[in-house]
Formats: sequence, structure tokens, C-alpha cells
Amino acid sequence: MATVLIIGASRGLGLEFVRQYAAAGARVLATVRQPAAGRAVSEAGGEVYLCDVGDQASIRRLADGLDGIGLDLVVHNAGIFGADQPFGALEAIDLLEVMRIDAVAPLLTAQALAARLAPGGVFAAVSSRLGSIGANQAGGHYGYRAAKAALNMAIRTLAVDLAPQGACAVALSPGWVRTDMGGPEAPLAPAEAVAGMRAVLDRLTPADNGVFFDYDGSALPW
Ligand code: NDP
Repeated sequence: MATVLIIGASRGLGLEFVRQYAAAGARVLATVRQPAAGRAVSEAGGEVYLCDVGDQASIRRLADGLDGIGLDLVVHNAGIFGADQPFGALEAIDLLEVMRIDAVAPLLTAQALAARLAPGGVFAAVSSRLGSIGANQAGGHYGYRAAKAALNMAIRTLAVDLAPQGACAVALSPGWVRTDMGGPEAPLAPAEAVAGMRAVLDRLTPADNGVFFDYDGSALPW
């Protein structure tokens, strides 16, 4: 039975990852920030752990609590969109916050959990097409775009560090999804987006280490 860890599982895509992996028969460990959010995760079939990814001590406690468990897959899903001011009204404090949660935190969870990955294990970060430099025609969303682009570089670099242990790192774009972040106009339901990302993860080979995948399985430009 595969063991999967979903980081940021209280709602949205993270909770759907828990549901789908549990339904597929995996052992699913899943983190929330608030104990009250654990109920939804339990009902979805996950074993609840607490972690605020914005707090490195909390990430270290999570890693300590997983000692002795071999993780076949870690999905770092937790993320924020941030304040998203337009150019001309950007504020350092907001830009730094989205960078802290969307770029720094996944790198720190990867660092803390790398030793917990089973041979052939995968660290997947939920990134965004908005973090693709090559695909950016529309502009806007400075903080979120820059943070996800920084995350992508961290994942590409992590791939080099994980290769010797036979593990790999990938970045995933879920598409535009109807969640609290994606809003009601988004074309994809969480179930479709997560099914797509799971299919990508199921098909990974060592040759895919350090690739940025869209939820439909196509490779995205960095
Ligand atoms: P939601 O806003 O619905 O959920 C965000 C999740 O991240 C929640 O579980 C939230 O927990 C968690 N989280 C936020 N900050 C922290 C933190 N400091 N520590 C731990 N957990 C935290 O977003 P989505 O489900 O839509 O997004 C999931 C991922 O997908 C994100 O990384 C997002 O950037 C990415 N994405 C989403 C898209 C979309 O269209 N929805 C498009 C592209 C990418 P809590 O409930 O405690 O706040």
C-alpha cells in the first residue's frame, strides 16, 4: 500500500487529494493548520497531522512525527494567492508573504522530508501556470507569479538533490479550479483537476525528475 502525505489538506484541492488517494486504497497522511479542520480530513480518509508551513519549527515537528514512515509521495499543496495589488500599488509586506508561503515553505518542507521519501519516492509541489515564465503573456499578479516561478526553480534544483537517492521532484499545475482560491467561474471541478494530477503522478518515471506538468499531462515551459 502506497503512503501519501498531503500538505495543506483542509479544503480545496488538498482535501480532494486526500479523498481520491484514500479511495484508491493508499495510506493518506494529511496536514491542516487548525485542529478543527481535521474532521473533514478524517472523513475523507486521511490521518491528521498539524502543520503551518509558514513556521519552520512546525515543519520540523511534522518531519519528526513521521520518523520511521517511508513516504512514496509528498504533495505540497498549501498555498495562498496573496493580496494581489496592481502594479503601482505593490507593497513589500504582501509580496514577501506570498513568497514566504508559496516559494520558501515548499522548499523547507522538501528539505525536512527528503530523508522520509521511500526509494523511488516523489515530492510534488502544486505550482501554477501563472508561475511559468515562458507562458506569461498576460502579466499581472506580480506576487503570486513571482512566488510560483521561484517555487518552480526550487523544484528544478531539488530534482538534482533527490536524484542520487532515486527520488524525484516535480511541479504541477492544477489548471483553473473552482475552490476558494480559484473562485466560482473556474472551468474545472477539484475532482477533475486532482484526477488529472494523480494520473500524471502515476505515470512518472525517473526521466520526469524536474519537470513542470500541467494537470492534463503535458509539460509546461518553466
Ligand atoms: P484554497 O485557498 O482553497 O486552499 C488553500 C490550502 O492551503 C488550504 O488547505 C489552506 O489551509 C492551505 N494553506 C494556506 N496557507 C497555509 C499555511 N501557512 N500552512 C498550511 N497550510 C496552508 O486553494 P486551492 O485548493 O485552490 O489551491 C491549492 C494549491 O493549488 C495552491 O498551492 C494554489 O496556489 C494552487 N493553484 C490553485 C489554482 C486554482 O485555480 N484553484 C490554480 C493554480 C494553482 P487553511 O484552510 O488553514 O487556510
